[in-house]
Amino acid sequence: MTPLAHLLLRQIAVQGPLSVAEYMTTCLLHPEHGYYTTRDPLGVAGDFITAPEISQVFGELIGLCLAQAWVDRESPAPFVLAELGPGRGTLMADALRATKAVPGFHAALHLHLVEVSPVLRAAQGQALAAHAPVWHNSITDLPDLPLFMVANEFFDALPIRQFLRDGAQWRERVVGQQNGALTFGLTDPVAPPALAPRLSDTLEGDMVETGAPAVALAQHIGERIAAQGGAALFIDYGSAQSLGDTLQAVRAHEKVPPLHSPGMCDLTAHVAFAPLQQASPCASALSEQGTFLNALGSGPRHGALARGKTEAQIETLWQSHRRLTHPTEMGQLFKVLALYCDNGPAPVGTVA
Ligand code: SAH
Repeated sequence: MTPLAHLLLRQIAVQGPLSVAEYMTTCLLHPEHGYYTTRDPLGVAGDFITAPEISQVFGELIGLCLAQAWVDRESPAPFVLAELGPGRGTLMADALRATKAVPGFHAALHLHLVEVSPVLRAAQGQALAAHAPVWHNSITDLPDLPLFMVANEFFDALPIRQFLRDGAQWRERVVGQQNGALTFGLTDPVAPPALAPRLSDTLEGDMVETGAPAVALAQHIGERIAAQGGAALFIDYGSAQSLGDTLQAVRAHEKVPPLHSPGMCDLTAHVAFAPLQQASPCASALSEQGTFLNALGSGPRHGALARGKTEAQIETLWQSHRRLTHPTEMGQLFKVLALYCDNGPAPVGTVA
């Protein structure tokens, strides 16, 4: 049993069952035993691989997309270039390299990173030393300037609550204990007003998930962009509306049961994008990752990188392009949500 499982069992004995959101928050962010607070989870030797770790082209194209959005909005200076949950800093390093030649972009930008993990902050510091990043624990600390922002696989780590439909009401899925082990249970029926609209598009026994922290974050960023100008790209797996149980735990590239080893595995849920769009007062567009990357030239860019390479290297590049864009790989499941100030067009490659 993990140290965090002991702590959680003690907490449940005293306070009663936890919501799935409380369970996720403790597992991911507990100061001593939390998954993100204690390790670098990325890469082949870690638990999962993300798009920027698959190919440099991912960060390059996102950098160019944000730089074009900045040019389209009359190149405000100074401005904040920000990333939420930058992992190893790979995406941002690729984005900054690719945008070196955009006149005035580097001179005008202030780099701000929102990251809770000390381990990953150190990695980001190495990757981005030349750009003197400023770190924050929370987005609310960002300076009030035009904001150009990216977050890849960040919203999926934000806590969700789960509700199972029971007639015209819902039972919340909670984490309790039985015979000394963590176990899922259900509350008595409740009727949260936020779920009333879902009675029309769900059936008895369906599960829906709500992500209040993600919605509040999108609202905050949308308000900043509406007031100060800018654009944000949020890339994650998910769909417009939540339907079904998407809570998932991953360890060493394998799915494991979500209650199995708290603190030792990544815990995520699919992102429901429509509520994020509804909460944002600025303009928004939702596209599939494959469509977005293909529109920005993922194929030709991987092709250019293949010039003069060995056959094995060319195969790796081709596989990377396929993995990022093909509908049966990441191309369709992953979506790109663009929030943008409408004093310029939607960010290139996103569908308005
Ligand atoms: N964007 C990176 C890493 C994705 S993993 C990539 O694509 O490779 C999720 C990232 O979000 C990690 O950097 C993690 O430490 C950070 N993170 C998770 N929850 C967070 C929170 N509540 N506040 C700030 N950062 C968080």
